[in-house]
Amino acid sequence: MTRRRWIAERWDEATATLEGAQAEHMARVLRAQPGMEADVVAGGRVFHAEVAAVSPHEVRFNLIAEVEADPALPVTLVLAVYKFDRMEWAIEKATELGVAAIAPVIARRTEKHLGESAEKRAERWRRIAHEAAQQSRRSDVPVIHVPALLANFARAASTATRIVLAEQERSTALRHAVETAVALAQDEMPAFEVAIGPEGGWAPEEEALFDANGWQAVSLGPRILRAETAAIAALSVVASCLE
Ligand code: SAM
Repeated sequence: MTRRRWIAERWDEATATLEGAQAEHMARVLRAQPGMEADVVAGGRVFHAEVAAVSPHEVRFNLIAEVEADPALPVTLVLAVYKFDRMEWAIEKATELGVAAIAPVIARRTEKHLGESAEKRAERWRRIAHEAAQQSRRSDVPVIHVPALLANFARAASTATRIVLAEQERSTALRHAVETAVALAQDEMPAFEVAIGPEGGWAPEEEALFDANGWQAVSLGPRILRAETAAIAALSVVASCLE
């Protein structure tokens, strides 16, 4: 029987502890008792563990043995802030698909009020990523970066292969760009930054900025996808090239 998997808030070499809502769920709903077995994620590593102590707001596990962890996709999804409900759905799906990090960026066509409240919303995005990581039995939780201005992110130094999904692009497919980067990296696993624009798309000056900073424009085909669809399609293409 597959053991339930929990992502610990605190850990050391021998124990791991759940706190807050998930500890309360274990204690009150699942009526956890000492000796109950589970998989516990602690610091990106997965352990076969057993409950050592249960209190209403805290469940402590003894770590028994490390088990195989599945690495995240080496992809940072650079997601232009757009309608929060759709963006949160994209964060949940990107987490299920294995994304390593999500960098929310304020683009020129990000609606003003969404850009202004993005920083306050980031904590909720982190909770969504944590829950989706737990539900999909990941051995890590994707990092949700502090929202930044797109121009700053696009110009920042990076060793990643930088790819921008451009709905007007027709000559280069995403798959080709990823396969080329993998071939160039030889036995290294390359890291990718994949940028997806807001509902209104990238502004011309943003496309020029990407180009001037070494981002490769790629296409996901002739149809115009919603940003959340583009995120799922892009991560699926990258995963199929890397896994
Ligand atoms: N306003 C744009 C238009 O109508 O042409 C659509 C923008 S689309 C809703 C949001 C983002 O998804 C785009 O900026 C792009 O990053 C990505 N995207 C959507 N369809 C794409 C495609 N066929 N190829 C590459 N990127 C795409």
